[in-house]
Amino acid sequence: MRYAIVSDIHSNVEALTAVLGALEALRVDGVLCLGDIVGYGPDPDEATDLMRARATAIVRGNHDHAAVTPGHESYFNPWGRSAIQWTRRVATRENLAFLGGLPMALRVDGARLVHASPSDPEAWQYVMDADDAAPEFESFDETLCLIGHSHIPLVVERSGETDVDVTASEVPLAGGCRYIVNVGSVGQPRDGDPRAAFGILDLGEKRVTLHRVAYDAALTREKIRKAGLPPFLGDRLLRGQ
Ligand code: ZN
Repeated sequence: MRYAIVSDIHSNVEALTAVLGALEALRVDGVLCLGDIVGYGPDPDEATDLMRARATAIVRGNHDHAAVTPGHESYFNPWGRSAIQWTRRVATRENLAFLGGLPMALRVDGARLVHASPSDPEAWQYVMDADDAAPEFESFDETLCLIGHSHIPLVVERSGETDVDVTASEVPLAGGCRYIVNVGSVGQPRDGDPRAAFGILDLGEKRVTLHRVAYDAALTREKIRKAGLPPFLGDRLLRGQ
């Protein structure tokens, strides 16, 4: 089985469409979505419709959660907060109900899926490096845990008691090792590379690969401006920050 891994789409349909286009040549059997379909961006319904049509499994992100949980936006910065309030106004009831029904965690083909951290998915903690990952490895039984949330790619390999932050874009899943993998963000990358990020999990070849694909971020930025969303949310897309 070959799965695409997508996360943190954030209502960016240009980025999501570019990723789905790239997947056609990669012949995947399924698409695993790690949440934050909405928030920040200008196309919540289009992004949700596409994920509903294409994803094999989806877990709930904190922005999906906030879109259906009045008051939860108070945890966000002012840009995120106003985008969530806007999303609640424009998204269809059906799509909001769908987001509200998403599970916090799933197990798919022997992999754990959560948006933020496996130890307490609803605490929305960030796993940014091997130090953050160390206690998280104690909280799941599977060999592999797929996460999102930080918008920055991260692969941590646990071999025995040692955790290593793997920087390669092609990661063989070694026998006896366990992994926490964040493939980065489709719709709002924050690692300085503005291209949309996604990953491929090949269970047959025991390998995770991290991919990037360019998209028309200037168009998304223009849509953000026209929607009356904070212009900063568009500007940051051009920088990948
Ligand atoms: Zn996010």
